Amino acid sequence: MPFDYDPENIFAKILRGEIPCDKVHETEHSLAFRDIRPQAPVHALVIPKGPYATLDHFCEEATDAEIVDFWRCVGQVCRSEGVEDGFRAIMNARKNGVQEVPHLHVHILGGRPMGRMLDPA
Ligand code: AMP
Repeated sequence: MPFDYDPENIFAKILRGEIPCDKVHETEHSLAFRDIRPQAPVHALVIPKGPYATLDHFCEEATDAEIVDFWRCVGQVCRSEGVEDGFRAIMNARKNGVQEVPHLHVHILGGRPMGRMLDPA
């Protein structure tokens, strides 16, 4: 499956410095910042700097260095945001995953009990 990437998405604009973000952490290949509409006391987003739309896109086309850097950045954010009591990591993809911003991101949510993983649909 070919992967599309829209360079006008809002996280691409953050990466280009065209709009601001509340930065949590930055590495060579990744950036973490606070979600603009937090759904928990801790709600950070970690994104790769490269043009990857979804997790499957990233897993197929990112370099080993980008993949390692991304997950190390997630670990650093968990440490710095103080989610020792636990957290939830969420990655939405495309239409059925209800992905709003088409640039790969992992939500790190914590600071309170997160409830069941999915609402029964
Ligand atoms: P998703 O549905 O997984 O694509 O989630 C996208 C997330 O990006 C949502 O939780 C939004 O609140 C968040 N978001 C959208 N625009 C911004 C922004 N400019 N800065 C920080 N977070 C944003």
